[in-house]
Amino acid sequence: MRFLLVEDSPVLARSVRDLLALDGHGVDHAATLAEAEDCLASASYDLMLLDIGLPDGDGRGFLARQRRAGRDMAVIMMTARSAVADRVDALDGGADDYVSKPFEMAELEARIRAVLRRRGGAAQTLRHFAGVAFDPLAATVTIAGETRDLRARELRLFEILLAAPGRIFSKDHLCDRVFSYAECVSDNAIEVYVGRLRRKLAGSAARIETVRGLGYRLTGP
Ligand code: CA
Repeated sequence: MRFLLVEDSPVLARSVRDLLALDGHGVDHAATLAEAEDCLASASYDLMLLDIGLPDGDGRGFLARQRRAGRDMAVIMMTARSAVADRVDALDGGADDYVSKPFEMAELEARIRAVLRRRGGAAQTLRHFAGVAFDPLAATVTIAGETRDLRARELRLFEILLAAPGRIFSKDHLCDRVFSYAECVSDNAIEVYVGRLRRKLAGSAARIETVRGLGYRLTGP
């Protein structure tokens, strides 16, 4: 999917962009509303992540103008403001959802998935790998006509591995991205989810290989 990230904090922009890129999304970054306008004029996006306080104006007014101009992409506002009125404003102004800064990357990913699911983008996000039809929005894998549900962390783990088949992901890296900090107490946690995911993928040619001392990688036939 193609995302537009409108955010003037370089640090936050980089971490959000890296996260989405690892999930296999294309991300264009705009640091001002003027840059965002240029991006929207030259490309179409599935989803826009939009800050409220930007150097050249207010994201809410910008969004309202985009909606009036007929731009229908999904929008999640990123707000540092905690007042209920600001959140209501964001939603009234045409946002699908919002996240309050500071937010966990896992929360942002969950909200993105939820928004895209509500908008029914499933057909364009269905992915195929080694006999597995993976639908991240429905949280299912279908193998030889049999559909199996994935739990949230199995889904997350599969998305990460599937973004780069053949690449070795360390346990630490997977742990950081699958669990929140507090949960990531031992290597065993990730082993448990790898084991579950392997069972869900049984019957396909997709394998999660253990690379001794290094981590895991997804391989096909
Ligand atoms: Ca800002």
